[in-house]
Amino acid sequence: MAKPIVAVVGRPNVGKSTLFNKLIGQRLSIVEDTPGVTRDRIYAPCEWRGKQFMLVDTGGIEPKTDDVILKQMRRQAQIAIDTADVTILLTDMKDGLTATDHEVADMLLKTGKPIVLCVNKCDSVGEPPLEFYEFYNLGLGEPIQISAAHGHGTGDLLDAVFDLLPEHAGEDYSEEYIKVAVIGKPNVGKSSLVNKLAGEERAIVSNIAGTTRDATDSVIENSYGKFVFIDTAGIRRKSKVLENIEKYSVLRAHMAVDRSDVCVIMIDANEGFTEQDSKIAGYAHEQGKACIIAVNKWDAVENKTDKTMKEMTEDLERSFSFMSYAPFLFISAATGQRLNKLFEMIVHVKEQNSIRISTGVLNDLLAYCTARVQPPSDKGRRLKIYYMTQPSTNPPTFVAFVNRADLFHFSYQRYIENQIRESFGLEGTPIRFIVRERD
Ligand code: GDP
Ligand code: GDP
Repeated sequence: MAKPIVAVVGRPNVGKSTLFNKLIGQRLSIVEDTPGVTRDRIYAPCEWRGKQFMLVDTGGIEPKTDDVILKQMRRQAQIAIDTADVTILLTDMKDGLTATDHEVADMLLKTGKPIVLCVNKCDSVGEPPLEFYEFYNLGLGEPIQISAAHGHGTGDLLDAVFDLLPEHAGEDYSEEYIKVAVIGKPNVGKSSLVNKLAGEERAIVSNIAGTTRDATDSVIENSYGKFVFIDTAGIRRKSKVLENIEKYSVLRAHMAVDRSDVCVIMIDANEGFTEQDSKIAGYAHEQGKACIIAVNKWDAVENKTDKTMKEMTEDLERSFSFMSYAPFLFISAATGQRLNKLFEMIVHVKEQNSIRISTGVLNDLLAYCTARVQPPSDKGRRLKIYYMTQPSTNPPTFVAFVNRADLFHFSYQRYIENQIRESFGLEGTPIRFIVRERD
């Protein structure tokens, strides 16, 4: 089930990123071998009174420009309008109410989506200064006074957000539908692909109204199965204001990944791998999703020989070494080349992502592994792996009970992981290891 989305909007320097960091609790997420994911965070999970939601700092999306504030604000408001279930409009007690605040409030009000008005930098607790009451003029109801820096008032803010969160966020597609996110940079061919797939014969395409946040998801049923292609980056309605802002396309990709079972990571055969691709793919990996790397525009690659595909695969394997389990598929959204294969692969990697291996079978394998390569030791103490079990799927997650966790080096975990993959396939899915000490 997708989590509802809450966006923070406000002029530069009102304290958006301070508030964002306060609310997400500055938890460190450490993923050592995933490039580019955790560095500049503008999107993170949050929980209040048992309800979970995703928080977006729309200010963090701004490219560094000299654009006038109003133009920046339009973009932020547009992001909130496109993506959020609830918007927090942040203003600044020190600056007082400004004309820009009025403009933004009007833009947001037009959409009819819930808004929480919040006045930041109310650093002293107690009765607010008289100027505080000016903020009622925005027509957004009672403003909430907070100090993002000190943390006062954030509980009241979260209570107000809590009351406005939708009961059932996002889609309610039944289990038989595989939810697919086609993700990638602008212009790699995401919309061409979805349109092509939806246009194929015997495919039933419909937009399920009412049940989705994004009424532009494409439902496709064919001989391969039942699929929902999640609309990414406004595949259907490209937003002029936001197109080509890298962080915006990354954000939309992240949102689509969260809702998906399978991610089709699309790159352009003529361009090869780029830094932005690693940010997008890295997130799908981090979230444990089944992944396929689709190399699109294969039709437009000139002077192909019988070696081109192999050479390109080798290059890409190096670039995507952090997710070496992901299969490559060379496709053309324009001509339809290998799109049948794409459906097959989507079904396959989804199954692999959902695989369940029994404890008995797993421990037979473990015995074989430890007999073949001795576990590491340090100062006379040797690692003992007592047993392994798989408590959950999507992605397959294994718990290893050991005598000393520090001895279970990454390289030995890798070895076990490779053995598991060799025995059970697990193509297209990341797997997770949890190490628990036990006497
Ligand atoms: P953004 O541009 O809206 O993301 O604003 P920032 O979060 O970067 O904050 C801008 C400035 O306001 C920084 O110098 C913060 O330290 C300061 N600031 C943020 N919140 C508060 C607050 O509650 N009280 C005070 N006095 N300063 C704050
Ligand atoms: P998106 O921004 O990722 O949704 O990309 P689009 O689907 O809008 O495609 C961007 C451009 O690439 C358009 O001009 C498409 O016609 C073109 N394009 C998409 N797929 C292919 C393909 O398989 N082959 C070729 N030659 N061009 C393609």
